[in-house]
Amino acid sequence: MTRKESAFMSVNQRLDSKQPPKSLLICGGHVIDPANGVDGPADVFIRDGKIAAVAPKLKEKAERTIEAKGLIVAPGFIDLHVHLREPGQAYKETIATGTAAAAKGGFTSVCAMPNTQPVNDSVETTRWMQSPERGALVNVFPIAAATLGSQGEKLTDFYALREAGAVAVSDDGRPILDDQIMREALEAAKRTGFPVIQHAEDTRVTAGTQMNYGAVSLRLGLRGMPAEAEAAIVRRDIELARKTGAHIHVAHISTAAAVEEVRRGKREGVRVSCEVTPHHFSLTEEAVAGYDTRYKMNPPLRSQEDREAMLMALEDGTIDAIATDHAPHAHHEKMVEFDRAAFDITGLETALGLGISELHEKRGIPLQRVVELLTANPGRILSLGGRGQLSAGAPADVTIFDPKRKWTFDWKESRSKSKNTPFGGWKLTGKAMVSIVGGRLVYEAAK
Ligand SMILES: [Zn+2]
Repeated sequence: MTRKESAFMSVNQRLDSKQPPKSLLICGGHVIDPANGVDGPADVFIRDGKIAAVAPKLKEKAERTIEAKGLIVAPGFIDLHVHLREPGQAYKETIATGTAAAAKGGFTSVCAMPNTQPVNDSVETTRWMQSPERGALVNVFPIAAATLGSQGEKLTDFYALREAGAVAVSDDGRPILDDQIMREALEAAKRTGFPVIQHAEDTRVTAGTQMNYGAVSLRLGLRGMPAEAEAAIVRRDIELARKTGAHIHVAHISTAAAVEEVRRGKREGVRVSCEVTPHHFSLTEEAVAGYDTRYKMNPPLRSQEDREAMLMALEDGTIDAIATDHAPHAHHEKMVEFDRAAFDITGLETALGLGISELHEKRGIPLQRVVELLTANPGRILSLGGRGQLSAGAPADVTIFDPKRKWTFDWKESRSKSKNTPFGGWKLTGKAMVSIVGGRLVYEAAK
């Protein structure tokens, strides 16, 4: 463990050892709780780590009071898609540092993808990730591998993984291409009560690709990934979900064609849901023009038409959730030639600001809808113990944010161990002020 890491541990241990208040009153705020249809002034009373009451002008006496005048009080944000890099790649991120970044971004629950080292395809690794020794600041829900070693050949033991705490299966980054294996995965997942989460990319046609295929990739001389490589897998998966009755969840959707498949699938009653990342609704392939590796992603940044399709699908309900695909990489893995650089970026601390700036401020999407994409919907896609809503008796996971606060993202102040973000210096509107997990304050912004 490096000195920096041990400093982090001690901060987390200090927070852990502090007893959360027995009771907490959040007063004077504006509550947005889409799952319960609440959008108005109300106080939130928390007792013994659970939501006790949500109503205007509560009279309850609390051990601690948080003044939320001018702020939005929402269910704690849920991120369906993060890479915490532990076990095996602690030089990029640890569960402690990744969840510290989550808390700062307003996320109180994160779902951790299994492409760790070793791949999380076992009960042991699933349990290890949830152990208190990892020093997680927010809830960590492991997504286990769908196939052993994510090799796409033999299914893992879904039932045992669920008993160990996994909430879904996915071979994220290594899509399941074989029709028969995918069908078996969906059938087993249906029996277990899981969705199968698919990174939709036909890797048989994308080997060596660096960015989106199109005029920009031809101009830059970079090998391009065609939109059809995503849409083809989404189409195949929706057909299999239709046949099996299982739930397919499309990770980080990025193309107009794939979104259209999801729209049609939903209309026809197939159990399909999908998520989009903040970078896919904020940026386009034009950003790659300077060969800056901070814009190298998988799925790649797409065309303006694709971005427009993401915004429309966020508006009309086709896209269910905003997920960050937070993917930390060390400096030496990104600061190399474009074709050698690692894919993807960090994202936990900029998601809310991008959501409010790009969707609400510029596009006019109601704040209530932005909150739904971060809370009620991800909480409905995965079973996370009643999270994503402020119902009485639910775990007291709460995010308090300032929807009007203007701020500039400084990557040097990121709590993530890695700094691979293209959003440094971006002026954003909307910032998390307080994050509460099970009644415990895990983040409080400087006033
Ligand atoms: Zn992926």
